[in-house]
Amino acid sequence: MTSPPYDPGFDDGWIPPEEPPGVEYADYDGGEIPWAPAGASRPSEDPAVRSSRFASPLEALEVVYGYEAFRGDQAEIIDQVVSGGDAIVLMPTGGGKSLCYQIPALVREGTGLVVSPLIALMQDQVDALRANGVQAAALSSALSPSERAEVERAYVAGELDLLYVAPERLSGEATRALIARGSLSVIAIDEAHCVSQWGHDFRPDYLSLGDLGELFPGVPRVALTATATRETHREITERLRLPDARHFVASFDRPNIQYRIEAKADARRQLLRFVRSQPEGSAGIVYALSRKSVEQIATFLAGQGVDAIPYHAGLDPATRQANQARFLREDGVVVVATIAFGMGIDKPDVRFVAHVDLPKSVEGYYQETGRAGRDGEPSVAWMAYGLGDVVQQRRMIAQGEGDRAIQMRQQQHLDAMLALCETVSCRRQNLLAYFGQESGPCGNCDTCLEPPETWDGLVAAQKLMSTIVRLQRERGQSFGAGHLIDILRGKSTERMTRFRHDQLSTFGIGDDLSEQDWRSVIRQLLAGGLLVAQGEYNTLALSPASAGVLRGETPVLLRKDVIGRPSRADRPHKTTAADTLAEGDRDLFETLRAWRAEQAREQGVPAYIVFGDATLRALAEHRPATLDQLDGISGIGAKKREAYGEQVLRVIADASR
Ligand code: ADP
Ligand code: ZN
Repeated sequence: MTSPPYDPGFDDGWIPPEEPPGVEYADYDGGEIPWAPAGASRPSEDPAVRSSRFASPLEALEVVYGYEAFRGDQAEIIDQVVSGGDAIVLMPTGGGKSLCYQIPALVREGTGLVVSPLIALMQDQVDALRANGVQAAALSSALSPSERAEVERAYVAGELDLLYVAPERLSGEATRALIARGSLSVIAIDEAHCVSQWGHDFRPDYLSLGDLGELFPGVPRVALTATATRETHREITERLRLPDARHFVASFDRPNIQYRIEAKADARRQLLRFVRSQPEGSAGIVYALSRKSVEQIATFLAGQGVDAIPYHAGLDPATRQANQARFLREDGVVVVATIAFGMGIDKPDVRFVAHVDLPKSVEGYYQETGRAGRDGEPSVAWMAYGLGDVVQQRRMIAQGEGDRAIQMRQQQHLDAMLALCETVSCRRQNLLAYFGQESGPCGNCDTCLEPPETWDGLVAAQKLMSTIVRLQRERGQSFGAGHLIDILRGKSTERMTRFRHDQLSTFGIGDDLSEQDWRSVIRQLLAGGLLVAQGEYNTLALSPASAGVLRGETPVLLRKDVIGRPSRADRPHKTTAADTLAEGDRDLFETLRAWRAEQAREQGVPAYIVFGDATLRALAEHRPATLDQLDGISGIGAKKREAYGEQVLRVIADASR
């Protein structure tokens, strides 16, 4: 188990308990786990009882999912839950959290109850499980009364392996009474960070999940999230009342994601250039802050020949649904969206996530960019960020509702995000450090690939600051970035003449820098808290930290922005599964892909529910000729072998002739 200690920099006395008292953990060696605790019932012989069909977790892994071995902490987590203990699992997106509760539900007696915040997510998971032959269902508002009655009946009769339910439903008495009529094997609380009031996805209904332990004593609980801050971790432990849980904190690195953040000049053009630099047919998500800019960017990209569609809460439900379905089911669609889009999007082959506006926190950024490359294939997280973002977000915080403590918290979130944007060292290192995890330079982010040049910005900062001071002291005036830059660059404008600012002693002292350079200086000073923007017009003022700069005591190291210059990291790189195949196997891969698309269309499910890219690639490489040989292919379990085995063998045989 990897449980790195949290950043001791802000130790507040809370340390995640290492292990619950009185439980021993043998290192899992890939063999059978001595999981069955004293008193656990043996798997039932009754075929009507669907759960406990498997003698061991490994057997379930092989037969149901067609996978050979557990990854990372999976075996230990499953061991913990199967033996009746609670667990808190912090694992990045794509790390394989689902198996951590699905397999215990298959191995233990009873039905696994999964609390999941989004209906779309539940439905995807249920579809994927059914495709693997698991008896899964979701209790949601999407059901008709008769469908609902059937799900309830099946649950009470003990026919379900897994039952998904939304938190708001589970806080109701009726649902709780229903759950009590059946028998539970495990309770899984997915997206557990939704319990965090300070977090970015807070859902009040999650607070009511704290008493599940008392309501269903003896049922192990597992809380899972891809959010990793110490704060959130603690809130999950406390609010879900899991004092005896064992904690599993995986590495949060997503090595296949390349991080890139560039200075914003013309966001749309930069975005277009980035999208065009991606391999043909790449699926991607572009995040923007407002509905209006989502619409504009989607229209702009579509006008440039990109297969782009909008997604935001203001669209009518039918359009929203249709756009989401297209993104999930078709290859190469780019969805431009507000952050309303994405939580619970399980699409494994999203090749890029782009941000044209600054996320409010590193958690949000990590979560959103984490939707790229769940399948482990190379992917890119790209962002354009500029002075306007800093000013806008600072103002939103200042004008926002909430008390001082909330504002402080938001300010801290933003500062951490800005530090990530302005760093001159490895982005990944910075990102992981935020989650309390140490690492070296990654070699796969823009700053590693093209180390940014830095320059000494002290004198420039002093010129700017003394202009601000003079205007304030001599004239009692304050101005925004635009006019200040005009003064520094000695530009004669109508306003300059009207205010007689050409008389200021600092007029024209900064004409060695371009307007863009000055914007970069101001952005970086604001990001570092060396300046503040105030009021409705975002006028610039000194901060308490400015004095050190004016006295020449605080060093001002600035990064040189790279805008619009094609960079090494920009070159299209090979990313599709087919690219890693030998020439001769690529045609077969494409043939299999076409076959898969047809299957998906016929059944009305996303292609990846039929088979993932990695499975198609293995098929193209190994060209199995018999049903038995299909067993060696990752991702083909018993159910899929039965459903597709013959067809796949035929496709391969035809293509190999
Ligand atoms: P998360 O919920 O943590 O984002 P998932 O549970 O969706 O991750 O898993 C990500 C992908 O990895 C899925 O396609 C899943 O089937 C696959 N996966 C998970 N565990 C294994 C394993 N042990 N071997 C092979 N593939 C796995
Ligand atoms: Zn790096």
